[in-house]
Amino acid sequence: MNAHNSKNPSDKSHWHILGGLLAGTIVGVIANLSVGENESAKEFLAFAIDGVAHPIGQIFLRMLFIVVVPLVFASLASGVASLGDLGKLGRMGSRTLLFFLITSSFAAALGIFLLGVVQPGAGFDEEARKTLMASYSSATAELGMKKNVQPTSIIGIVNYVLDNFLPRNMMKAFTEMQMVPIIMFALFVGAALTKIQTERRDVMMKWLDALTEAMVKIVGFAMKLAPYAVFCLIFSVTARFGLDLLQKLGMYVILILGGYAIVLLLFYPILIKFLAKRNPVEYLKGAIPIMVTAFSTSSSNATLPTTIRVSEENLGIRPSVAGFVLPLGATMNMNGTALFEGGVVLFISQVFGVELTLGQQLFVVALAVLSAIGTAGVPGASLPLLMIILAQVNVPPDGIAIILGVDRLLDMGRTVINVMGDVVCAGYVEDFERQEEARNKQ
Ligand code: ASP
Repeated sequence: MNAHNSKNPSDKSHWHILGGLLAGTIVGVIANLSVGENESAKEFLAFAIDGVAHPIGQIFLRMLFIVVVPLVFASLASGVASLGDLGKLGRMGSRTLLFFLITSSFAAALGIFLLGVVQPGAGFDEEARKTLMASYSSATAELGMKKNVQPTSIIGIVNYVLDNFLPRNMMKAFTEMQMVPIIMFALFVGAALTKIQTERRDVMMKWLDALTEAMVKIVGFAMKLAPYAVFCLIFSVTARFGLDLLQKLGMYVILILGGYAIVLLLFYPILIKFLAKRNPVEYLKGAIPIMVTAFSTSSSNATLPTTIRVSEENLGIRPSVAGFVLPLGATMNMNGTALFEGGVVLFISQVFGVELTLGQQLFVVALAVLSAIGTAGVPGASLPLLMIILAQVNVPPDGIAIILGVDRLLDMGRTVINVMGDVVCAGYVEDFERQEEARNKQ
């Protein structure tokens, strides 16, 4: 297969998953609207959500989650080892990180720009603000305590990122699914493998490759469940979700979703065309299963196995690149999160009547990028860090109560943008590596 052509997958499974997504959304909204104030109907719907839809969705999610740790470790260690020399690792690593930084900064600035121009928070209904603050106050307090994140200082963010980098105990990192330490360890193992005897290295690499392949097969099993599970996951969200909240926060939601759309349909295609040198339409089309999985799981980590499999199978990314860029990206590259954080800080500051100077807005861009790097790839992970940013610019961190009710919807969207940023980066690194190889051959 010419790796530069997106494979046109003959199986139609992603259409089935999309069908599940659409059907789940519609059925959920209808269920939510038709229940009204009827108590027994409310009870029945609660049972349908918690007793049926949630467990089915969970089976799917857990099948994806169980493979994440072994898959990341095996594919990354083997990817690095197969590079052969550490100079190549440095070259690939520096390009990847630079790409992550530039795209996240662009996304954060876009979020701030959109919300700053339209100012949807400026005339926010005082009554609605009080009600929202009251009804989400306990959820907000819980977030503030999460992961010892104290919304006090920049040092808090820096320490948070640092603390999450190098583990004291590898097993603890594995059992607690701390992705950054696992990545660091896998990088070390891969780098060390390039330095040991070839025969020994080959044994280990065969083992790592077989493990990767087996994990990808488990993802294949999970994907058979996907259309039903996705239906259930989306149904749980939309059936619970009142349209009421959406009306109050409509402009905010539209602007953030609009920002996601600009990144996905304008910014990424430009990068795909000029940096990855591929046809953007084909590339995005090949990535549909990734986007659908990201949207329905709200988790970059849970999506990672699908991201790796589909990038290799449909987009022609080689395992050595996919195994390196995608796990790193799932943890560190979050353009959707950066956009959301930039935008939401502006929105909440408008609601509280706090005016941010241009300097402060640039500061927010930097903090949004930094905390997007520190955000774990699980649902709602950016919220505790968001509280730190708010405190930095003198906006009450509890203010996030205002947006908590609609956050799941935005989380689904930002996860798509987060994951697709990694997939675009993989295309770019793939192209660059190929060119470099061709140059070396001459
Ligand atoms: N759910 C997002 C992800 O997994 C992280 C976040 O912004 O909350 O990519």
